[in-house]
Amino acid sequence: MIRSILKPYFMACAHIFKSCFTVKYPYEVVKPSERYRGRPLLSLEECIGCGVCAWICLNKAIEMVKVGEHKFPQFNLGRCCFCGLCADSCPKLALVMTDNYEISEYDKEGLIYSPERISQPPKPKRGKIVTVKKYSKYLGAAHR
Ligand code: SF4
Ligand code: SF4
Repeated sequence: MIRSILKPYFMACAHIFKSCFTVKYPYEVVKPSERYRGRPLLSLEECIGCGVCAWICLNKAIEMVKVGEHKFPQFNLGRCCFCGLCADSCPKLALVMTDNYEISEYDKEGLIYSPERISQPPKPKRGKIVTVKKYSKYLGAAHR
């Protein structure tokens, strides 16, 4: 009985001296892994408007829209699952997946990325970037 009451206190004391397993987002942000897939980035110069990306997208997140004389992909990131199929299939390598995950908006319309908007490089992350220093099977990733 006494043991079960004291055990949480001992555990709490032990954790005071352990590494930090959380970050103070948005003041600190975790650096994504090399292979992380965030929002796509389009090169308007490279894109030939072939529509392969729109055809391959299983979530129907891409619609080809006319901009001037040419057609370019418009993205609905509310539908995107960041699989990267569009970037892998682009014959001109006009699409790349960035490591940007800060795309939250107040309404669904805000997640529609016109060709001009999706071609803008993501803004640099606002918080201090922290990296995973060690990994525990039980506690997860430690950042310091
Ligand atoms: S981004 Fe690539 S696949 Fe999509 S329309 Fe442009 S060239 Fe074609
Ligand atoms: S990453 Fe996947 S889901 Fe998102 S637009 Fe490209 S193909 Fe569609």
